[in-house]
Amino acid sequence: MDLHLKNLFSRFQDQFGSGPGLGPGSGVCLMKVEGISSNIIQSVFKASASLYRSEPWKRFRPSHLFGVRVGKDSDWLGKRQSFQCVQFIGGDGGDIAIYMYKSMNSALKMSNDSWEMVRVPNVEVFRVTYELESLMLPCNKRMVKSLCLEVSGNDRFPVIDVARCMTSGELRFRNPTLEELRLVFAVMKALSLVHPLLLQEENQVEGLSRMIKFSPFIETVDVQWPPEMFKGHGFVAVTVSHPPGQSYEQKSKNTAVMAREDDELEIVSGMTSLHVGVGAEAGLKRCTMCEKPVHRDESVCCSHCRATIYCGSDCEKRHWREMHRSVCSLYEAMMSREEELKIKIFTFSCFAENPCEWLGSLGIHKKGMWRRQCGCYSHCPFGLLNGFSSDAQSESWGGLEDGDYPQDLPIQNLNNGRTSGMILLSDWSDYYDLRCLPSSSPVCDILSYPLTLYHIITTLSIHCKNLLLKGKEVTVHYIGPERELDWIKAFAEINHLLNGLETVQIIMVGPEVPSNLSGTIATASTSNNSRVKVSFVKGLYQDEATYLTSPDVVVALNCDLDGYSSWAGAVEAVNNMCIPGFFTDKTEDACGNAKAVLRNAGLNISYTVAPNPFRSPVRTYAESSNLPCYSNGFIIGVNT
Ligand SMILES: [Zn+2]
Ligand SMILES: [Zn+2]
Ligand SMILES: [Zn+2]
Repeated sequence: MDLHLKNLFSRFQDQFGSGPGLGPGSGVCLMKVEGISSNIIQSVFKASASLYRSEPWKRFRPSHLFGVRVGKDSDWLGKRQSFQCVQFIGGDGGDIAIYMYKSMNSALKMSNDSWEMVRVPNVEVFRVTYELESLMLPCNKRMVKSLCLEVSGNDRFPVIDVARCMTSGELRFRNPTLEELRLVFAVMKALSLVHPLLLQEENQVEGLSRMIKFSPFIETVDVQWPPEMFKGHGFVAVTVSHPPGQSYEQKSKNTAVMAREDDELEIVSGMTSLHVGVGAEAGLKRCTMCEKPVHRDESVCCSHCRATIYCGSDCEKRHWREMHRSVCSLYEAMMSREEELKIKIFTFSCFAENPCEWLGSLGIHKKGMWRRQCGCYSHCPFGLLNGFSSDAQSESWGGLEDGDYPQDLPIQNLNNGRTSGMILLSDWSDYYDLRCLPSSSPVCDILSYPLTLYHIITTLSIHCKNLLLKGKEVTVHYIGPERELDWIKAFAEINHLLNGLETVQIIMVGPEVPSNLSGTIATASTSNNSRVKVSFVKGLYQDEATYLTSPDVVVALNCDLDGYSSWAGAVEAVNNMCIPGFFTDKTEDACGNAKAVLRNAGLNISYTVAPNPFRSPVRTYAESSNLPCYSNGFIIGVNT
């Protein structure tokens, strides 16, 4: 256990005792510290925060219940997991919490129409509650922040405990066990992945007007445990029961046995579910229509365009009728671009249906910065991968040989005789020549981020290019960074390509910026006089933009504008500032959706969807589609 964390926890406990809640005058220690690593704690909070941000709460009403099952039977004593039912409390305006119950029965006993938990003697409730910042004492806030616990939403903090009502009627609280923390971690992870499927359907349950019963439809999601938890587990899957009416018409042979007729919420022992191995991204697809996971070998795709993936011909037909018919020929055209999008100058394999395997084949799986290129480190919050000592460049590039990655050194040292000033590049071939990199080096997969940014400020944005030519500083608002937060070293390349002469300030703003990085400035390059500085601000762009140095360009890479509602505010902020903005996405389809989002927000699309010359050459796959998919594949610009 990290000593720093341990001290903080014990101070916390001393100060606030073990009463309920975190409000003024009461307190509770957050969780048992012994034997739980700080990684786990951070994972749990990170997961809960990301769950919160994805706003599944808004879909639920008080007393919504669903069943969750985690892991193998043998993972749980007595062949039952300790908490089987999960209940959402609150949402807009209410107390936000999830409660977990040991059985359907205790859930029913303890829930009623009010948003308060009914006190049933000797039934334990595992609670993840969100406390308002305004209800927390300043020292609580400091504590939570110093623990790097993620703030959820605008001003709420997650707190985890187990409550038990004694026969005397008094409520007692205890810290969750490690197994229970595993459960909450898995639940949150699962929910953050499948919550769009958990639409509500209210059915009257006798005596409990707001109870909801989900039919026994099953969603299984792969959960990446933190590695220290993973030891000794052959596979880990989380099963969340679905609400009915989600066009999941045939029960598969696996799922039919998983729910009992008499108790739809209890998922019985003996379920096998899909045996999804940890990291088994291979071959697992998701039906475009019903979003059910389906193995590639058992999936079908649209017989015309071959772009959309379905679990079966029923879903294919239904999707055709309901929406696909109108876009099929468009998708067909996108599919036909497969060949022209291939970047053929590289000798390493540029086909990565399974990222872990692809990385493995290059000997860089789970190494250095590559840890962000598959799901194996998804438990670790962005920006918090262990760094490397500043001269261990090879290590941060995953142990590649010295000549196989760009040295963090000025380029003129490598290529004598180059003229000073910024270097203009038109594609990867130029860049690899300039850096004398062998065509077997996969670094372009990571460098796609800094080089796309470089391409934007030196070529696509005339305004930025002019500033640079005049020797003036360029400020970039870089919205929604995720894996880039662990790749700051790779951004040093921008400094070298500018020959160390121009000043670029990159401000990375987004909810994924970890609290302890927020407000800090990094020098991407270890060169003494690097003029490219990266600073970090945690929060939503629309909330932070006015406090930042005003930008010359706004950039969001692999942004999925259409996928997150929180982009609406950011897009509006870009519109209000009337600043040039560039956005990339992985598929032409996603970029087209981004275009629609931007246009609907009233922005002027001045650089229409086009392939990005600095896209990663590595062909990947979206879950539900066969469309050509590359990191930073396509680019679109506004107000340019
Ligand atoms: Zn389907
Ligand atoms: Zn089609
Ligand atoms: Zn992996």
